[in-house]
Amino acid sequence: MSEFTNLYAQVAACQKCALAQGRANAVPGEGPEDARILFIGEAPGFHENRLGRPFVGAAGQFLEELLASIHMRREDVYICNVVKCRPPNNREPLPNEIEACRPYLDRQIELLKPRLIVTLGRYSMVRFLPKASISKVHGVPSKVGEVTILPLFHPAAALHQPKYRADIEQDMLKIPQILAQMDGIAEAQQQEQQVKQLSLF
Ligand code: URA
Ligand code: SF4
Repeated sequence: MSEFTNLYAQVAACQKCALAQGRANAVPGEGPEDARILFIGEAPGFHENRLGRPFVGAAGQFLEELLASIHMRREDVYICNVVKCRPPNNREPLPNEIEACRPYLDRQIELLKPRLIVTLGRYSMVRFLPKASISKVHGVPSKVGEVTILPLFHPAAALHQPKYRADIEQDMLKIPQILAQMDGIAEAQQQEQQVKQLSLF
């Protein structure tokens, strides 16, 4: 059993907060276990709860369109949420629920070791950038430890609001640039290493 499968089983059985009572299915997250990019949303909604999969409703459809704009499919990235069970009537997750669920997201990040984390909405952004305001930092990548964080508006909010929609569409286009820049830096570091090794002789 992979460590991810193990984690999914723990989430499915979890009773650590009151959201366990109302769920049809826990929604641990999904994607390749070696994905370079991790998308983190807020919490499962109606369709996610029904199917046990993240972003399968209208917001998910929009997320897939956004991914298509950078020639990616949802199968290419890892997708999960800050909390793994649906809050009643899609209300916002409470601080105690976020805290109870935190170790699962921590573990996902530890196992996946993504190069880039794209946060969708405020709840996932504040986990990495606690003081940031999303209206200021959306679309602006920043380095937090080893990983690059790119905050985006939440696709559910952006879907129906033209201003946010234009922003999220623009911000999404930064992903290929960020990845190319990372590859460029990695290559430069490798070359520098080779030069150093050669100069030893
Ligand atoms: N919104 C989220 O934040 N997550 C989902 O999985 C679906 C909608
Ligand atoms: Fe457990 Fe997270 Fe579900 Fe709460 S939301 S019951 S902490 S998996």
